[in-house]
Amino acid sequence: MPENVRVRYAPSPTGSPHIGNIRTALFNWLFARRYGGQFIVRVEDTDQERLVKGALEDILESLRWLGIQWDEGPEVDGPYAPYIQSQRHKQGIYQHAAEQLIQGGHAYRCYCSPEFLEKVRAERRQQKVQTRYHDPCLDLTAQRRRELEASNTPSVVRFAMPTEGVTTVHDLIRGEVTWQNEVLEDFIIIKSDGFPTYHLANVVDDHIMEISHVLRAEEWLPSTPRHIQLYSAFGYTPPLFGHMPMILGPDRAKLSKRHGSTSVLEYRDQGYLPEALRNFMVLLGWSLDDKTEVMSLDTMVQNFSLERVSKPAAIFDIEKLKWMNGVYLRELEPQELAERMLPFLERDLPPDLLPVDQDYLRRIAPLVQERIKVLTDAPELTRYFFQPELECDPATLVQKGMDAPGTVAALERARDAISAAPSMAHQPLEESLRSVGAQLGLSPRQFFGALRTAVTGRTASPPLFETLEVLGRERVLARLKAAAQKLAGG
Ligand code: GLU
Repeated sequence: MPENVRVRYAPSPTGSPHIGNIRTALFNWLFARRYGGQFIVRVEDTDQERLVKGALEDILESLRWLGIQWDEGPEVDGPYAPYIQSQRHKQGIYQHAAEQLIQGGHAYRCYCSPEFLEKVRAERRQQKVQTRYHDPCLDLTAQRRRELEASNTPSVVRFAMPTEGVTTVHDLIRGEVTWQNEVLEDFIIIKSDGFPTYHLANVVDDHIMEISHVLRAEEWLPSTPRHIQLYSAFGYTPPLFGHMPMILGPDRAKLSKRHGSTSVLEYRDQGYLPEALRNFMVLLGWSLDDKTEVMSLDTMVQNFSLERVSKPAAIFDIEKLKWMNGVYLRELEPQELAERMLPFLERDLPPDLLPVDQDYLRRIAPLVQERIKVLTDAPELTRYFFQPELECDPATLVQKGMDAPGTVAALERARDAISAAPSMAHQPLEESLRSVGAQLGLSPRQFFGALRTAVTGRTASPPLFETLEVLGRERVLARLKAAAQKLAGG
């Protein structure tokens, strides 16, 4: 059983996070919770060119919305603050580390221009050279270095990878993976702008922050031998590594918008419940057993382990997410459903129907619970409850086998029965309206069809008598009257 667990989610703020990014956060968080460890958020923003404004806020908001609380990181800080690499850079942490490597002979300044290197690469490609390029800057004399420095020649710092042997990672998910060192390049650790690259900052911080397990997406596996060599050059014990499977679309292509995948915050805005998305995401590469799909957060926390993280790619299926959202929506207490629907009503109902009466909404919610698939359905499913006047086409009031005068008479009889009813409780109301229909010689389909259209403006609605009860006597009577008038006048 893993001990002293400290794991991190290390996003780069290069855009609004997608399912894949946040799946990494979720797995790390579950791992920390399962083993009583710490979950850390560290922002890797040293690639200044790729920064996107607002991305960090979106990352933190995605985590908050999904209930993934971080123990250390932005906003909450912690013993290793700051947790934002650009701020750590200002403290000289990475420069200092690079100097240490240069002193120890594990890194060197390289003055080659990007154009020169591009030319070399092209030649090597043409000649199909597989082995490592020997950087001439490795062999510069001290005198020549001084001259280059004195003339302010731009430079980067490169890590000097061992030229022989192999680097092996014992991956907790993928098993043993080995690389021949001679095919690994001397990678940059400090760029010409003085900022560290991902590799350096990542390793330095994982060490300083005492990260026990690096759990990240499979795309980072090729970086791992570099990281292992960095740890070794520093004389640090590396953390344990686990690379999580890729996420592909049902056609096994890289996940994209085409598969319905969008940023996490877009799912929120499209009316998905965070608990449904979380449950959906946990199954992208992990399983409880061979069958369980819907499970509580407690079940995930108590059972999450790397042993059940799969090696093959996980398949993202938007239909499954939709289905799962429906399951979670139907499980909500009606009161809770009303609260979840409220922001969507406030966002999408016409302004003249606002503000929403929340007591009324709580009574409406159970009526639409069976039919709602995403919270964005709420305005359309409930609008007629709030409208002062319905825009209904008189022709739809007249049911098969009836005519306009007969329909007007039926609506008037219904009005009388409803005004005389002792209450709007749906059961007695149903009984009395059934007998009115029978007295009029109308089938339930005819009589209730006319009633439904008159009070909801629609030909399909939640159960009619519950709807009448929730609408309340005043609204129902007014709507019946308006419908009869429209029909009589039309
Ligand atoms: N900053 C990297 C990213 O954007 C982190 C990779 C890692 O976890 O080491 O995903």
